[in-house]
Amino acid sequence: MTQRLDYLDPYQQRFEAEVVALLEREGKPAAVLNQTCFYPTSGGQLHDAGRLGGVAVIDVIAEQGAILHVLADAPSFAVGDVVAGAIEWARRYDHMQQHSGQHLLSQLLHQRFGFETVSVHFGREESTLDLDVPALDPDIWAEVEREANTLAYYALEIRAYFVDNRELAKLPLRRPPAVSGQIRIVEIDGYDYSACGGTHVRTTAEIAPIKLLHQERRRAQTRITFLCGMRALRDYQQKHRLLLESAALFSTEPAAVPAMTQRLQSQVRDLQRQTAALQEQLLAYEVAELLAGAPQQRHGAD
Ligand SMILES: [Zn+2]
Repeated sequence: MTQRLDYLDPYQQRFEAEVVALLEREGKPAAVLNQTCFYPTSGGQLHDAGRLGGVAVIDVIAEQGAILHVLADAPSFAVGDVVAGAIEWARRYDHMQQHSGQHLLSQLLHQRFGFETVSVHFGREESTLDLDVPALDPDIWAEVEREANTLAYYALEIRAYFVDNRELAKLPLRRPPAVSGQIRIVEIDGYDYSACGGTHVRTTAEIAPIKLLHQERRRAQTRITFLCGMRALRDYQQKHRLLLESAALFSTEPAAVPAMTQRLQSQVRDLQRQTAALQEQLLAYEVAELLAGAPQQRHGAD
């Protein structure tokens, strides 16, 4: 068993631990420690990266109560040694923002609109949640974004704790837990209760801004792509820069870019029509010229 330090404090970034075993996974060395801050890929959340005893940790796997740290290179430490570990904080904090954001969005969609989240995926760039409805209309879309960000401004506390079956029965869980026995609950201050083993931010304030990017119909369901925290900010920065660049190309204001693009498109279509007409006229002239010149040429050849 590896003691999970991320359960006690998801904000702990550095730790020391004793090496319990050295194994091999994915053709690489893998270390098992008596305790760790490294989060393994589980519950949809991606694993942490970082360094252990000076070696890069490239994957983290949960296996029967043990956490395996897959290493990029052979370590210089041995079983019984005490090693220092550090997780890559920017990556982990990003995962925490997306994961807490998903809990908030799923509860909002459930409570306010009656839409249930059927599955969730956290990617390196974007995250998605699948809803049991064929589509979200634009009004609801805008309302979900507005309300999710308002809930973030309330800075609702997010805490994690374990409960037994008796205590579990009293909680209004959004979905029944996939495991039994002691269940870890992640609670957003009386608003959402989820059975979850993931790492989460301290308050909903740390999730903002929350941005829905697009929706995609998948049979009777809708897949919503969303961004939270720094990801959403980076997306805004990038899109704002692209818009300013486009506006500069047209020597206009950002707000005028769509109308300008439309006007240019229709000008291009007009020019294409004019070019086609001129080409036809030119062809007619060339044919007439050829016909007029043909007998003389034949004559001259005699
Ligand atoms: Zn979760």
